[in-house]
Amino acid sequence: MERSLKKKRIDSSEPDLPQLFNLSENDDVDTEDNPGLSNSGSRNPVLPDSELINPVLSDSEFSDPGASAGDSLLTTSTSTKASTSSLRHTGTAMIAVANLHKGYVKAKKMIPVLRGIDMDVAQGEYLSIVGQSGSGKSTLLHLMGTLDVPDQGTIHFDGQRIDHLPSAKRDYLRNHCIGMIFQFYHLIPEMTTLENVLAPIMIRDSIFDYFAHRRTYRQKAEHLLELVGLTHRLKHRPSELSGGEMQRVSIARALVGDPRILLADEPTGNLDSKTSREIIKLLRGLNETQKLTIVMVTHDLPQAQDADRIIRLVDGQIVPE
Ligand code: ADP
Ligand code: MG
Repeated sequence: MERSLKKKRIDSSEPDLPQLFNLSENDDVDTEDNPGLSNSGSRNPVLPDSELINPVLSDSEFSDPGASAGDSLLTTSTSTKASTSSLRHTGTAMIAVANLHKGYVKAKKMIPVLRGIDMDVAQGEYLSIVGQSGSGKSTLLHLMGTLDVPDQGTIHFDGQRIDHLPSAKRDYLRNHCIGMIFQFYHLIPEMTTLENVLAPIMIRDSIFDYFAHRRTYRQKAEHLLELVGLTHRLKHRPSELSGGEMQRVSIARALVGDPRILLADEPTGNLDSKTSREIIKLLRGLNETQKLTIVMVTHDLPQAQDADRIIRLVDGQIVPE
């Protein structure tokens, strides 16, 4: 059972994703060398940019040189903390998870990890998933992000089933609809901050497309880095950044593909408490000002309480708070 803590805006104007299923079939084996990036290796041949999923940030926002959005996000009020209201989100679910089961085989024995998860995520919602280490939080998030497939049950994204998509379609979905951030950032050490943020676009586009639009992409990446307060670190490499700065780079990178949803797996798990609060504030700011839907996994209850709603996992099942 889920605990709903606060009802807030639901944007039901988002279009469906019929284009997800227009891709050519390609059932090749997934490689997930860097889970922060979707590595289809080539641009989707079917859709022009104009048909890609509605962006989180509009072009006009990217071209507003006067805005200091980074500052405003970093100083977003925390007065929006989860209320104790029992109201549930009633809008169309962006993600709907039903009877999800997942286990891993160890020494020829199946170890159940997720044991019948039912939950949904509404558009515009900021949802936390809490639970002790080993309770299945990451497994659930990875399934939602199509990094893995369930043994049983279904996951729908905007009403379309995504749990057993072929590899190319999963890549497409992650490239265009899902942003992910992780506890250990998964930045590419040889690349600068700016290059790391641009990496998903480089991977998504063909070389020709990338070079044709590189100025726009660069502006977009710089805008996102301003949004996360890193304008002064564009040329630094990850080894020259603090943990909080690296996580901010990874947030900007997750946003560069204009995702519909941000999935965050213990995004502050490796950070001190002050930096953690800043990152949580940043996520809340993105949710409020950019209407970004967020699912954040954490084992830190106070952090989770900053979200609209909390789901608690115990031994692979959702339990009441
Ligand atoms: P959490 O994120 O809540 O700490 P996880 O979802 O990472 O938990 O893991 C849940 C359980 O599944 C743990 O006992 C873990 O050891 C096991 N597990 C996770 N991934 C694998 C894997 N690839 N192979 C075998 N066991 C795994
Ligand atoms: Mg985990």
